[in-house]
Amino acid sequence: DSANRKMADHLRKFETMFTLTPQRMRMIVEAFKDALETGLAKRDQVVPMIPTYVFGWPTGKETGNYLAVDLGGTNLRVCLVTLQGDGKFEITQSKYRLSEEQKQDDGQLLFDFCAECLKAFIDLNIESGVIENDAVLPLGFTFSYPCSQDRIDHGELIRWTKGFGAPNTEGHDVVAMFRKSLEKLSVPAEVVALTCDTTGTLIASHYVNPKTKIACIFGTGCNAAYMEYVRDIPKLTALNIDPNAEIAINCEWGAFDSFEHEHLPRTKYDLVIDETSNKPGEQAFEKLISGRYLGEILRLIICELIDEGVIFLGQNTYKVEIPYSFDTAFLSLMESDPTDELLMIIGIFTHFFALETTLAERQFFRALAKLVGRRAARLSACGIAAIVSKMGYLEEGCAVGADGSLYNKYPGFADRVHEGLQDIFGEKGRNIVTYHAEDGSGIGSAIVAAMTKIRK
Ligand code: ADP
Repeated sequence: DSANRKMADHLRKFETMFTLTPQRMRMIVEAFKDALETGLAKRDQVVPMIPTYVFGWPTGKETGNYLAVDLGGTNLRVCLVTLQGDGKFEITQSKYRLSEEQKQDDGQLLFDFCAECLKAFIDLNIESGVIENDAVLPLGFTFSYPCSQDRIDHGELIRWTKGFGAPNTEGHDVVAMFRKSLEKLSVPAEVVALTCDTTGTLIASHYVNPKTKIACIFGTGCNAAYMEYVRDIPKLTALNIDPNAEIAINCEWGAFDSFEHEHLPRTKYDLVIDETSNKPGEQAFEKLISGRYLGEILRLIICELIDEGVIFLGQNTYKVEIPYSFDTAFLSLMESDPTDELLMIIGIFTHFFALETTLAERQFFRALAKLVGRRAARLSACGIAAIVSKMGYLEEGCAVGADGSLYNKYPGFADRVHEGLQDIFGEKGRNIVTYHAEDGSGIGSAIVAAMTKIRK
């Protein structure tokens, strides 16, 4: 009937809007490479290319007990990592949920809470005999917010992201703040290294799979890290570091194409997301890709079709009109619905939004989810390709350790990234393979702590 025909017309329109041709992808890769180079050349560029002061790869021979504290977006994780050498490790961990109040309360209180949780965790492990009674263990602190670092055990928070706003923290050394809390509570741990989840994932992935050259995170946000030669980082020349040394770079690539908006294909829905976000103009790449936004893109399309009278005529649509009410996990569920009737999609719309759907609508929504998810994966491929191409990894090939719910849970995300890499590089794109790097952020900062200890 005419409603279905209309939807088919709309779908064609969205296909054009959200599809990236191989040619377009190659243009993005070139611009991305330039942005990476610019970030290495000078400070305070759009893609900041932050030197992490992690020098070189782990040997895989690191051994011993290390603590790791990972202050992520939603949880605080405390881990005890036993490195066994030859790329093997054991990990025990506890998770503590962070309340919204804690994220906004005074910064020192936040670190006090981290110290309290760590103390409880250590006590538990002393009781069970895993940690010796008088041991002071080296600790790697995973703190995934942009910090400016000039050595491995120091980092000034530039600005909070991911919904944190704790006062008296921006502009301060978070290691010093954490140490102060540890001292106050007499916690037997020594902070020796500060890393972020992406750098941690890079180091941990390489420890278990030495073919790894790049790590990516696809979660609430998106980011990448890789190992760079000091001689190719002009902004570091004044520091007198061995030019032939290697240093891990935290790209903070979610910022690619921010402000100028010259290179990425942004639809009107992307523009709405940007304008209504708390940081308009910023994180342009991330806003097209990460878990925080994909559901919202689909929701904005749905709302437009409601306004145009194409779908849900005569139904009360207020629930789906609430910003950010459509979680990216719904896109995963919609794409993986195995039933002919698309029962999963019926469930999502009735249960969460009190809306009835026809089969044609459900097929249409699934097709939309696919367009949004596929575009995110193909843009991610562009970022990976930029690093691969810049570093000359294509011929020899490399592995890319990846983590985050979008990568791990979105059906077909990895396949689409690989397909995108082949569209960019042709047959040789097969040389670049992503894989799930489990628990990278915790294990990675333990390994970095071990590497730091050995250097001392
Ligand atoms: P974080 O990045 O905060 O450390 P995650 O890697 O779990 O944590 O990412 C959380 C993001 O992933 C959220 O934006 C959420 O919407 C999205 N997400 C959660 N579950 C899924 C899923 N099954 N499929 C796709 N995205 C998901």
